[in-house]
Amino acid sequence: MTEAEDITEIRRAVQALCAEFPGEYWREKDRERAYPGEFVDALTRSGFLAALIPEAFGGSGLKLDAAAVIMEEIQAAGCNGASAHAQMYIMNTLLRYGSEGQKAQYLPGIANGELRLQAFGVSEPTSGTDTLSLRTVAVRDGDHYVVNGQKIWTSRAEHSDLMLLLARTTPRDQVKSKTEGLSIFLVDMREVVGKGLTIKPIRTMMNHSTTEVFFDDMRIPASSLIGEEGKGFRYILSGMNAERILIAAECVGDAKWFIQKATDYAKDRNVFARPIGRNQGVQFPIARCYAQMRAAELMVHHAAQVYDTGGNPGAEANMAKLLASEASWAAADMCVQTHGGFGFAEEYDVERKFREARLYTVAPISTNLILSYLAEHVLGLPRSY
Ligand SMILES: Cc1cc2nc3c(=O)[nH]c(=O)nc-3n(C[C@H](O)[C@H](O)[C@H](O)COP(=O)(O)OP(=O)(O)OC[C@H]3O[C@@H](n4cnc5c(N)ncnc54)[C@H](O)[C@@H]3O)c2cc1C
Repeated sequence: MTEAEDITEIRRAVQALCAEFPGEYWREKDRERAYPGEFVDALTRSGFLAALIPEAFGGSGLKLDAAAVIMEEIQAAGCNGASAHAQMYIMNTLLRYGSEGQKAQYLPGIANGELRLQAFGVSEPTSGTDTLSLRTVAVRDGDHYVVNGQKIWTSRAEHSDLMLLLARTTPRDQVKSKTEGLSIFLVDMREVVGKGLTIKPIRTMMNHSTTEVFFDDMRIPASSLIGEEGKGFRYILSGMNAERILIAAECVGDAKWFIQKATDYAKDRNVFARPIGRNQGVQFPIARCYAQMRAAELMVHHAAQVYDTGGNPGAEANMAKLLASEASWAAADMCVQTHGGFGFAEEYDVERKFREARLYTVAPISTNLILSYLAEHVLGLPRSY
C-alpha cells in the first residue's frame, strides 16, 4: 500500500526539521537534564504541534493519523518528542469537550506558540493506576473552585502555561457510579504558581522534565471547568485513546531508529575480518525487531483510523500501545547488543535512546493494565480488579 502524498510530505518536513537537532544537541540536554526549548519552539513555529487544532483557530486541522506520523518521525530521527507530545493529546479533550468560548480563548494562542499546553495532571502518589481513587478535590466556592491535593509525574509542568487537571468534585460515597464525580479543569498555571500551586522537579533516569505538583487552597475560576461537572472521567478516557495511539506512534519511531542504527553498525563494524552483520546471530535479532515493528505500525495506523472515523478505538489503541512499546523496547535491547561495548558509550546515542524508550511499557499505562483491559473488555474474561 502506498502512503498518501500529504502524509509523505509531512514525513519529509518533520525529517528536515529534526535534522537541525542532531545527537550532540540531545546529549547535552540529557547531560544537563535541560528542557529542549529550542526544539519545542521549532516544532511550534513549524505548526506541527498545532496539527490537531482546527484551521479556524489557527491550526492545520489534521487528523490523528497525521499527528501520529509527526510523532513517529520525531522519534525515528533520534529526537525526543516527550518534550512536547502532551500538547497533541491534551488538545483532544479541549477540542472534543471544551466550550466554544474556551476554544476561542485558548486555541489560537496555543497554535501560534504564545501558550503552552503541555501538562497533564492525572497520576497521584497514593492511587497509582487506580485513577478513580484519586484524592485531589476541587470544591465550588462562588465563581471559583478551590483545589487541594497532590499530583505526581506531572511532566513538563515547569515548561507549560496550562495544565489539564483531573480532580474530584463530588465525594466518592455520594455518587451512583464510581466513574462519576470527577471533573476536568484547564488550569492557567501562570495565575496560580506560588499562590496555591507548587511545582517540584523529579530527577529520573532520562531527561523528561517531570515533576510533582502540590495544590494548597489553589483558587481557579469556575470557567476553568471543561464540559459538565462530574463527567471528567469519561472525557479523560476518550483523550487517553488519542494519547495511547500517539505514544504508540512514538514507539514505532523509536523502534525504527534502533533498527536503522543497528543495521548501519552491523554493516560497518568488522570483527574476525568481516562485518558483524554477516553473522546470522547478529542479523536475526535485527530482522525479528523489524517484523515486530511493522506489525505494531499497522496496528497504530488502524487504531488512528478507527479514531478518525468516529469509532471507539479502545481495544485498538490499547493493542497499538502494547505492541509498539514492546517492539521499541525489544529493538532498544537488540541495538545495545549489536553495538557491543559501544552501545554503552554516550556518543553513540544508543544508551540515551535506550533509557528514553524504557518508559513506554510503564507509562502512560502499564502493560499489565492493557492486558487486563483486553482480557476483560474484549475477551469477556472475569473482572480482576
Ligand atoms: C517519566 C514519567 C512521566 C509521566 N508523565 C505523566 C504525566 O505527564 N501525567 C500523568 O498524569 N502521569 C504521568 N506519568 C504516570 C504514569 O502514567 C504512571 O506511572 C503509570 O500509569 C503507572 O502508574 P503507577 O506508577 O502509579 O504504577 P502502579 O499503579 O503503582 O503500578 C505498579 C505496577 O503494578 C502493576 N499493577 C498495578 N495494578 C495491577 C493490577 N490490578 N493487575 C496487574 N498489575 C497491576 C502495574 O502494571 C505496574 O507494573 C508519568 C510517569 C513517568 C514515570
